[in-house]
Amino acid sequence: MRRPYPFTAGELLKPGIVYLIGAGPGDPGLITVKGRECLRRAEVVIYDYLANPAFLREAPNAEHLYVGKKGGNHHRSQEEINTLLVEKAGEGKTVARLKGGDPYIFGRGGEEALCLRRAGIPFEVVPGVTAGFAAAAYAGIPLTHRDHTTSLALITGHEDPAKKMSSLDWEKLAGAVGTLVFYMGIANLSLIARELMAHGRPADTPVAIVRWATTAQQQTLTATLGDVVEQAAQSRIKPPAVIIVGSVVGLREELRWFDNRPLFGKRILNTRAADQAAELTALLEARGAEVIEAPTIELVAPENYDELDGAIAELETFDWLILTSANGVRCFFRRLAELGRDARALGSCRICVVGPKTAAFLAAHGLRADLVAAEFKGEGVVAALADTDLQDKKILFPKADRAREVIPTELTKLGATVIAPVLYRNVVPAALPETARAALEAGEIDCVAFTASSTVDNLAVLLGDNLAARLKGVAVASIGPITSKTCRKHGLEVAVEPTEYTLEALVEGIVGYFAGGSFS
Ligand code: SAH
Repeated sequence: MRRPYPFTAGELLKPGIVYLIGAGPGDPGLITVKGRECLRRAEVVIYDYLANPAFLREAPNAEHLYVGKKGGNHHRSQEEINTLLVEKAGEGKTVARLKGGDPYIFGRGGEEALCLRRAGIPFEVVPGVTAGFAAAAYAGIPLTHRDHTTSLALITGHEDPAKKMSSLDWEKLAGAVGTLVFYMGIANLSLIARELMAHGRPADTPVAIVRWATTAQQQTLTATLGDVVEQAAQSRIKPPAVIIVGSVVGLREELRWFDNRPLFGKRILNTRAADQAAELTALLEARGAEVIEAPTIELVAPENYDELDGAIAELETFDWLILTSANGVRCFFRRLAELGRDARALGSCRICVVGPKTAAFLAAHGLRADLVAAEFKGEGVVAALADTDLQDKKILFPKADRAREVIPTELTKLGATVIAPVLYRNVVPAALPETARAALEAGEIDCVAFTASSTVDNLAVLLGDNLAARLKGVAVASIGPITSKTCRKHGLEVAVEPTEYTLEALVEGIVGYFAGGSFS
């Protein structure tokens, strides 16, 4: 039936466009490239309960409208959503209608598209990874396999409430289709199992229920048609979940890969500064952890740049420039650029960095490090430079405000003149993000990763001191001995300290700890 709308496209000057985009099942990596491009172009994003909120960051300047529905508690009726789409596009806007999974699979995308067509609003559909496909893949279940089945059905376990569930042709479904995937079926689980068995599916047919598929909360229950109702009741599995029925479910034990990664199910707090957090987060996520970012450091400019600018003005008179971190490299070259200069200002000044990553950062500025200190602390720099003749050499060491004094002190002893201006300051942010605070308070954090002494001190400040009490039951992972010392100063017991002071080694240490193995 045609629905009356206040206007049609013919009455408008320039209708916009609606992209009906499948956002995938939850893992933000499962949106398509095209879907993300459309999202980035959007002026208005209209999204649902199941779509991952991370997507909204792709369109930070767009208007964000939440129209989700949770269970029967409709936030907005489907009709209101349809009207909203027509209205926003009618104003000439580019609208991204973001829907969980695929827009045309049990998502009422078909109804929205029909509405748009009837109102004369242009639209495009960007398919998505539907929950059933994703749940199967992430649970280790190939939905088809030559030895098991050649057919597959996607079925709603919760039809239009006006209809009876029994309107499904159970006889055909049970007998003619190999793999059955039920969406929205948890409430009707016993009916589904009963009908399938009554129509000839053996009671020992394997069944999997996959909840919150593709996310860190993914839960999978395997059973048989005969005992799934009891098992599901015991484990109290709730929606959103899909139910997969068929012998392919049996392949899961061999094909699991997602929920058996070493840190799966572990919630880890990443305390690094916001602009430095990504690398540790990615390493932990790759091992299956759920990472909550809780920046304890904010990098800000020094009180003034007088000392640094003075040194930069006569940069070519220095024999060595020491940069100890990627941040150091970034801030140094940013200041150089602000002063209207570039790398040529260095003349023949040589460069010493700490660690291969800092060297790689430097390389991005077209510069090769003359010395790469291997040890990830100040002593490494001293050891590396001690092999060169430092008598009467002039060294520039732009540093973080709270850097230890070891580099200037030791290099001065070796005969060098060291100028160590403040390049940036580490300050404590105003507060922890709410998600991190709530998870800590609820005791939902398994491990906290500290990558510098200041991350420990600052977390204590952010949590109102008494860190040991706040982190009771949380495994403490520290990147190296100096950070560990600071942990102990706060009364924390260090559970993980790798021998090599790198993020990779820290993550492997955490993996070892949770595997119950030894680590060092
Ligand atoms: N258009 C969506 C389906 C919407 S219906 C799609 O293509 O995936 C909502 C149902 O999808 C839920 O009741 C549940 O059965 C399923 N679902 C959605 N996301 C899910 C997830 N991450 N894990 C398991 N099931 C999910």
